[in-house]
Amino acid sequence: MKKQLILFVAVCMLAPTMYAQKKKTKKDLKKTVQQEQVFAPVNTDRNTYFYPDAKMNAFIDDLMSKMTLDEKLGQLNLPSAGDFTTGQAQNSDIGKKIEEGKVGGLFNIKGVEKILAVQRVAVEKSRLKIPLIFGMDVIHGYETTFPIPLGLASSWDMPLIEHSARVAAQEATADGICWTFSPMVDLSRDPRWGRVAEGAGEDPLLGAEIAKAMVRGYQGKNLADNNTMLSCVKHFALYGAPEGGRDYNTVDMSRVRMYNEYFPPYKAAVDAGTGSVMASFNEVDGVPATANRWLMTDVLRTQWGFPGFVVTDYTGINEMMAHGLGNLQEVSARALKAGIDMDMVGEGFLTTLKNSLDEGKVTLDEINRAARLILEAKYRLGLFTDPYKYCDINRSKQDVYSQSNRSVAREIAAQSMVLLKNENNVLPLKSSGKVAVIGPLAKNPENMPGTWSVGAKHANAIDLMRGLQETMGANVTFTYAKGANFDYDAEFEKRISPFGKETYRDNRPVEQMLQEAVALAKDADVIIAALGETAEMSGESSSRTQLEIPKSQQDLLDALKKTGKPIVLALFTGRPLVLNNEKTKADAILNVWFPGSEAGYAIADVLFGKVNPCGKLPMSFPRSVGQIPVYYNHKTTGRPQSQEDVYEKFRSVYLDEKNTPLYPFGFGLSYTTFNYSDISLSNTQLKGNETLKAAVTLANTGKYDGAEVVQLYVRDVVGSITRPVKELKGFQKIFLKAGETKTVTFDVTPELLKFYNHDLQYDWESGDFEIMIGGNSHDVKAGKVNWQK
Ligand code: BGC
Repeated sequence: MKKQLILFVAVCMLAPTMYAQKKKTKKDLKKTVQQEQVFAPVNTDRNTYFYPDAKMNAFIDDLMSKMTLDEKLGQLNLPSAGDFTTGQAQNSDIGKKIEEGKVGGLFNIKGVEKILAVQRVAVEKSRLKIPLIFGMDVIHGYETTFPIPLGLASSWDMPLIEHSARVAAQEATADGICWTFSPMVDLSRDPRWGRVAEGAGEDPLLGAEIAKAMVRGYQGKNLADNNTMLSCVKHFALYGAPEGGRDYNTVDMSRVRMYNEYFPPYKAAVDAGTGSVMASFNEVDGVPATANRWLMTDVLRTQWGFPGFVVTDYTGINEMMAHGLGNLQEVSARALKAGIDMDMVGEGFLTTLKNSLDEGKVTLDEINRAARLILEAKYRLGLFTDPYKYCDINRSKQDVYSQSNRSVAREIAAQSMVLLKNENNVLPLKSSGKVAVIGPLAKNPENMPGTWSVGAKHANAIDLMRGLQETMGANVTFTYAKGANFDYDAEFEKRISPFGKETYRDNRPVEQMLQEAVALAKDADVIIAALGETAEMSGESSSRTQLEIPKSQQDLLDALKKTGKPIVLALFTGRPLVLNNEKTKADAILNVWFPGSEAGYAIADVLFGKVNPCGKLPMSFPRSVGQIPVYYNHKTTGRPQSQEDVYEKFRSVYLDEKNTPLYPFGFGLSYTTFNYSDISLSNTQLKGNETLKAAVTLANTGKYDGAEVVQLYVRDVVGSITRPVKELKGFQKIFLKAGETKTVTFDVTPELLKFYNHDLQYDWESGDFEIMIGGNSHDVKAGKVNWQK
């Protein structure tokens, strides 16, 4: 928390396939998308980061031959900026270190002038003139912010997601940043963990596809271009599986599970050519990732062939002292030996590795390896050719937060929203009459960008009320009341407010606020209730044990319900919530996540039907916290229920709760309706490398044009190890006009049937398979095939 605060304050203080892909136009983004169906275990898809480069090697050999040990160690040092402003770069503490060659890169410095000034110190004052790399958490956009990553994932739209990363890279690089600490691809099945907001949810395939799309978006065709940036896949590994959902907590899982379920997204990012990897805070097999040689070297480098550098997470090395692994010198040596190359913030490398070398605890080869990998990244970025290539002040003025980027953000935000309920077709709303807009999230720009939006202009974000007024205000009368504070507890409310931001707490009595809201509601045709979490209720260090929306807001919803007016809940959240009460009380629920800088416009677009919602949940929504983890691709157990959600003694059930989630993975409604035919299979008996064609006829049976994400699931009925009840193996986002019909076909190959067996061998096994296609993980059309080797 403290660290985050420092980070935020720092930013504020300083504020001012081989990818030969065509640049995507907006029109392209709308086209039907045929997604890749497979994540390959072998690298087939690497980008230029993997190209050997003899010229680079010669350049770095020469440079390294001139470097002192101290200068090499300097390259491994990544402090967070924060103690200087423009003009002071040289005189600050960090400025001096840069001059002495003791800094390899800096992060959390925002503003191209400041970056230019600091780069000048490195290039003009340090002995070897080695440029710095400038990093930042550009997680879901820069100043123009896109939906939080869990929202982006809900679009299931890879070109869109890639485009969001492309725009983020264009903006960030225009402002001096050349390295982003993204994508965060930690698979998670635990919505108590606040960082699910930053990831792609619970599925390995969806997560892997998104990981690739993000890396492609950031790094583009050529890392040396001035509008592409180095990506950093994080947090390697398993950070999304902490015990109890409590951030930074212990992780322990079998290797079969790691390889089959949690590793694929990291590996996909590596295969897509990410230039850097960030180590996670947690332990894996009893050894913190930061000192885990098996992870950082055996898996990452030897098995996956990762050629880039590994950075720790924030003070990850120092934290190993608290993990109980020894003093700073010991843990620093262990990190280097494990395969860590760059030390974020803690300066363990800078201050102890020399002694460790003298004492024979690390080798010069290990130090050289790390320094070389960092220099290589700088070389590939083109910084040795032009250290100021990201410091074009005019470009910054033109490219950052531009109108065209904001339009893209608005479009993408609308694609990320998930319609969970729409009783009696309350939505879309009519473009007339009176609408009461009620709730603490209705008029609150600061919360719109969502967690981890360090580059955003929070106060400028478009909140719901503003979006509604500006888009529909000419025809619809909107009234507003806050109705309730975020939470009854003022202290808790401070804790969940965006860093350093005003909570705008309303100190009137609860009853008075409720009455005001109810009076407005009674006078309106329909209510839009803007309720949910604040942006900082999810994200780092925001774990929760209760997943309902806070009581103050539930009471508001109950009071509104009594008016008898139709209620549309615009649900803001960074994680799956427990929505039993809302499901009963609201007529419609539109889960908007945190939509980014254009939030209000995008929500208005969806509520009034300019955009037909098509998002699908990338994570199951539980019925209660006690069910967690609840995820679609679970195993059967030896005592499965014989009938879904029916209690049976001595079966794997709860006495007091169903097994199924409230909303399953892949779920999301539309204003139109889609009908799925039975599944048709080209064959039911297959052999070897044949391809099975699995198809359904999809019909848009409603009144609106719309998109549907058609999902392919496979169940391996008998295996040498237990297999999940189903696994996502492909998806296609299909656009159909009202009344239109289309056959949607998936190619199923044995490649799709492969998994890591008990010996961690990756292969498929002959036998029966269930092939399923549907609009979510629960409602599928199924058929059976037998497939022999
Ligand atoms: C987070 C990382 C982030 C880093 C730098 C850490 O606290 O875990 O995800 O990239 O800070 O800001």
